[in-house]
Formats: sequence, C-alpha cells, structure tokens
Amino acid sequence: MVTLNDIQNRVSVLYDHAFAQRQLKIYQWMTQIQKSNSELVTQHYLGKTTENRTMYYLQISQPSDKIKKIIWMDCGIHAREWISPAFCQWFVKELLRMQRSKIKESLHHIITRKNRSPHMNGTCYGTDLNRNFNSSWGSIGVSDNCSSEIFCGSGPESEPETRAVAQFIKKKKSDILCYLTIHSYGQYILTPYGSTTRPPSNNEELMHVAEMAAAALMGKYGTSYKVGPTSLILYSNSGSSRDWAHMIGIPFSYTFELRDKGTHGFVLPPDQIQPTCEETMLAVTTIIDYVDQKYFPGGAVMLTASSLGLSLCLSVVLTWTVS
Ligand SMILES: [Zn+2]
Repeated sequence: MVTLNDIQNRVSVLYDHAFAQRQLKIYQWMTQIQKSNSELVTQHYLGKTTENRTMYYLQISQPSDKIKKIIWMDCGIHAREWISPAFCQWFVKELLRMQRSKIKESLHHIITRKNRSPHMNGTCYGTDLNRNFNSSWGSIGVSDNCSSEIFCGSGPESEPETRAVAQFIKKKKSDILCYLTIHSYGQYILTPYGSTTRPPSNNEELMHVAEMAAAALMGKYGTSYKVGPTSLILYSNSGSSRDWAHMIGIPFSYTFELRDKGTHGFVLPPDQIQPTCEETMLAVTTIIDYVDQKYFPGGAVMLTASSLGLSLCLSVVLTWTVS
C-alpha cells in the first residue's frame, strides 16, 4: 500500500531535483557573469543551505580602494515566486549591459515557497525563510505547524539560509544603506513593519521614496502598485527579512511584490518577464538614486534610471536564495 508518507517522500525527491537543477543554472550563470565582467563583478561565498548546497552572492562595484556603501538585494527567498530571481538576473544584466556581453536569461518553474529543512523526523519539509528572521519572531502571521506554508521554523534564524544572510548583513551593517527583497505577487512596495502597525521612525521618508518608485514604475506600462506598511495594506507577519533589516538599523528597507494581482499569481506568463523587469528596474533605480543622492550629494557618477551606471560610492550586492 502506498502511504501518504511515501507520496510526500517521492514529491520531496522531485522537489529536490528541481531545486538542485535551478540552483545549478543560476550558479552557472553567476560564474559566467563574473568571468565576463571580472573588473566589475566578484562572486563570494555566503553560506550553506539546509541540504548543504553552497550559497553565493555577487558584488557589483566599480574598482576602488575605498570602502563603499552597499545596496543589498535578495531574490527568490520564496522559491515559487519565479519572477523574482528572473528580475535580479535581469537587473545585473542591465547594470552590466553598457560594459559588455549579453547574457542569456534562465527561467525556472518553481513549486513552493519554503526551504528544504526536514521536520518531525522527515515527515514534513520546509521553513518559510521570510518568517524565520529575528524580528518579533513567531509572534504574528506565522504557523508553528511544519506542514504550513508559513511555518516559521523552530526558532529565530533556525535555518542555515537565514543565518547566512543575517550574518553577512550584520557584519556589513554599518555600510548597508538599503535592503531590497524581491518577491511576488500582488504589486506592492511594502515598508516596515509586518509585525506591528507602529510606524518606523523614518516612516515619512520611507513612504515618500516608495511613492516616487511606484510612480516611476507606473510611468512605463501603467502598472499600479500599492505602497505602505505591510501590516496595514497586506497582512501582519513576523520574522520577515525586511522588518529585521530595518530593526537592526538599515534605513531603507523594502519588500517588492512584483506582478500580477492574482490572475496568474506565482505562475506569471513568460511574456510578462520583460515588461515586469523593465518597470521594476525604474522603481529600484529610483530608490537607489534617492539613497545615493542623500548620502553622496553631488556624486560624480550616479545610478539613474535614464543612464545606468554605477555610483563610485555604492556597491550593489545581490543574492539568489535558492533553497
Ligand atoms: Zn514571497
């Protein structure tokens, strides 16, 4: 007799294969990007996943011997939101386009949102990494049932993927000005916090910048995004990376929920990749421009939506959290 457990194990093997393939493709792409743009791009070790696969990040930066401020961007922390890693790859490509080489995008079909950690003696799998950060962990909008989509793990930073990101961010905290985490779907630019409706100290500025970003995005194809604190315009949740990043002192921290509003949901049709990336690019560069001008007024080279170039004072660090 085939038990539910057998089926779950079988599905889990299939998941595992799909994840390994996807990670391989993205990492092959990262290595290729690094090699063909070695003066601008470096690849670094970030940590290990639950299943002991290596996680890397890319740093894109103009050569300089001074310490730069950092824009952090992560993609694919929820695996099934496949447009998110696609956008980050697109973003890197655009950033490097003027320099050289055209890079083939890789697309992946994704099934779930959680990582691959086993629980209850391997009878269920996965923690929602965006509920696993140490920001009011476990308090609201999570589940302590490991078969739930929003299982928050056994404790704050219980997952190796969360720890790897958190350790990097903590180490570089004083240099990171902006934390962007890219998700889908719903068309939102979400500000802190998810765990409380109490506004962050710089709420007004966070909102102002997000509204400018949403306006820039809309200017391209008319796509409308809602802007505001997660807990007020979407739902309450605790343990998110965005809340955590802001709580430890990173001033500009946003979650992007990309297209669409539910017609296709996570399975966004491929013909929407290009427009989604183009419009999102305008929003992201609006935020980076603002941060750049705020911290480096009158800087010689700026990253602007109209003429993409790297600021001399900023690095962009990207990671693909592929469980
Ligand atoms: Zn997500």
